[in-house]
Amino acid sequence: MKRNWEALVLKAFGGRSFQLTVLDNEPVGDHYQRLLIDGGDLLQTCGVHPTMWIRLWFNNEGRSHQRAYTLVDPDADSGHFYLVFALHDGCAARWAMSARPGDTIEATVQGSSFTLPDPAPARLYLVGDAASLPAINSLLDAAGPASATAWLEYAHEGEQVLSLHTRPHDEAVWVPRRDNGSHLVDTVTAALSAADDEALYWVTCEAASTRSIVKHLRRRLGVDKEKVEALAYWRAR
Ligand SMILES: Cc1cc2nc3c(=O)[nH]c(=O)nc-3n(C[C@H](O)[C@H](O)[C@H](O)COP(=O)(O)OP(=O)(O)OC[C@H]3O[C@@H](n4cnc5c(N)ncnc54)[C@H](O)[C@@H]3O)c2cc1C
Repeated sequence: MKRNWEALVLKAFGGRSFQLTVLDNEPVGDHYQRLLIDGGDLLQTCGVHPTMWIRLWFNNEGRSHQRAYTLVDPDADSGHFYLVFALHDGCAARWAMSARPGDTIEATVQGSSFTLPDPAPARLYLVGDAASLPAINSLLDAAGPASATAWLEYAHEGEQVLSLHTRPHDEAVWVPRRDNGSHLVDTVTAALSAADDEALYWVTCEAASTRSIVKHLRRRLGVDKEKVEALAYWRAR
């Protein structure tokens, strides 16, 4: 597969490459595909942190196509982890649907870093969707006593089938994707009407929605930059 400039830039910035092997592949309802992966020595070499993601290189008609995916339940002893793909019409999603045990794919580890702030936040405000559900689940697993409110956008009812790791003191609000994401933005901005100095805000949804929500937090509410973790997980086209 022809590698492009992205691969060279990532290598220059210290990106480490690994070959992953598919061990198992199963659908989760109609909207997700869960793959069990042997990561070789990826976990031992790079360590693991909540929300950790890797860059996978997909073959898109002979060209290299790089997309980010989140490690689910990484097990350092076996070197295994899961990848959970939200399905849509894209090259990465198509690969996930057709992957068979024994198939391999290249991964680069570069750019993923996250630690919960110290002192730990008292509250987490999480905004995401099917693509960032694995990351949000790993945050909930690491959240300790912090209480979390999560707004999760869904494009199809079946996207709610993936289990959410909320604890009894957390709240989850599923929001249908409407008006190109405006409904999620309106729901979240209406609920968050004042800055919470003891909170961490985590915003990982579609690009335009992520931008609007961060603008609301930073410009309108005046939330400190360090208290907002935001990254567009996908772009509507
Ligand atoms: C740090 C990080 C971690 C991520 N972890 C995960 C993960 O664990 N699981 C996961 O499923 N995704 C995850 N994503 C999102 C994933 O990388 C994107 O959805 C990616 O665009 C999929 O690539 P593709 O080749 O399938 O589609 P693309 O070629 O990027 O897009 C093809 C078409 O599909 C649409 N599309 C792309 N993604 C989505 C989506 N999520 N929902 C609806 N339509 C979409 C596009 O608008 C376009 O029309 C993560 C993203 C980031 C930045």
